[in-house]
Amino acid sequence: MSNSKYDRSIALMCPTCGNRELPVDENEEMIVCGGCNREFTEDELIHENSEVIEAEIEEITEEILDDFNKTFKNLFKN
Ligand SMILES: [Zn+2]
Repeated sequence: MSNSKYDRSIALMCPTCGNRELPVDENEEMIVCGGCNREFTEDELIHENSEVIEAEIEEITEEILDDFNKTFKNLFKN
């Protein structure tokens, strides 16, 4: 089963201690934070990170728009 509920390139963060290097392993049911030993399911972690994920998506969108604007301006310069 392919699982593309969210973009894997977005770093999930432990909501308890802020650890960003969580061992997300598709074969494991529980994700255990190395910082505070809190256990989550992947769904819980995504839920806890929904604000972070939304903020990052916004940032990515801004970056894309920024790049687009730069490219667009360069087209007119040349
Ligand atoms: Zn933690």
